[in-house]
Amino acid sequence: MELADLPDVVSLAVPFFVGAMVLELLVGRAHYTTRDTAASLAMGVGNLVIGIAFGAIGYGVLLAAWSWRLVDWGTGVGWIALAFVLDDLRYYVYHRLAHTSRWLWWGHVTHHSSACYNLSTALRQEWTGPFNGAFLLRLPLVVLLGIHPLMLAFVGGLNLVYQFWIHTETIGRMPTWFEAVFNTPSHHRVHHGSNPRYLDANYAGVLIVWDRMFGTFVPELAEEPVRYGLVKNVATHSPLRLAFHELVALARDASAPGLTPLERIRYVFDRPGWSHDGSRRTAAAIKAGWVAHHPEEAGTPGLPG
Ligand SMILES: [Zn+2]
Ligand SMILES: [Zn+2]
Repeated sequence: MELADLPDVVSLAVPFFVGAMVLELLVGRAHYTTRDTAASLAMGVGNLVIGIAFGAIGYGVLLAAWSWRLVDWGTGVGWIALAFVLDDLRYYVYHRLAHTSRWLWWGHVTHHSSACYNLSTALRQEWTGPFNGAFLLRLPLVVLLGIHPLMLAFVGGLNLVYQFWIHTETIGRMPTWFEAVFNTPSHHRVHHGSNPRYLDANYAGVLIVWDRMFGTFVPELAEEPVRYGLVKNVATHSPLRLAFHELVALARDASAPGLTPLERIRYVFDRPGWSHDGSRRTAAAIKAGWVAHHPEEAGTPGLPG
């Protein structure tokens, strides 16, 4: 197979996305509201358009790096599978950073801004991906392992398409073996939860094994229904505000008068919720505060002991 023959799987999947959303609506167990869904679709279309218009920025850098590759892979099926798994690990790292550094969170917050959880939520994507430098996380795969940027675009697209179907409440649990290995609706509902125990958990793209390996896995508990959205929800359906509100807040914080240079840098790169005067709370502080008020829950999944 030639690299140039690899299809753009995200664009190809759009009719499937639409059909599945209609089916989820008809099945009737999903909670859709018109304005929320319209906002999610607008963010999805904007993400696709901006990816087509500006995706070449990251691609160009990676292609230049590819000429420095230390080894060369073919395009056999085995190599594609290995590239898929390694890029899935890259996704885990990216997604964990997107929740633990405000520099990536200001874009990724868009995906978490809906208080609904249905298939349209999957399409609620940031508009600024090509500009945040996250494509640099693919550099080791390109240079050290010689995976071609086109191959990474292909397996990365497959990864995104996989993540579509897990944004649903219509599916309860998959078979035990499947829940053990793969990201599922149950695991990803936890990821979209604002409950203290569900914060900063289940960063997986396709393989949930990364969360199990690196200690970020939290199971969905029947006795604790997920509250979807952000700790502090944004009361807007405006696509522009959904895309940029956290960037505006970051700029305001980092340029406030009277801060040291280090404090300004920390407002940009430290954890969401970090503040120079301790007036805000990070996810870790929220979890600790919860346990202080509910000591009987200390040490249960997702909460400190
Ligand atoms: Zn996330
Ligand atoms: Zn999601």
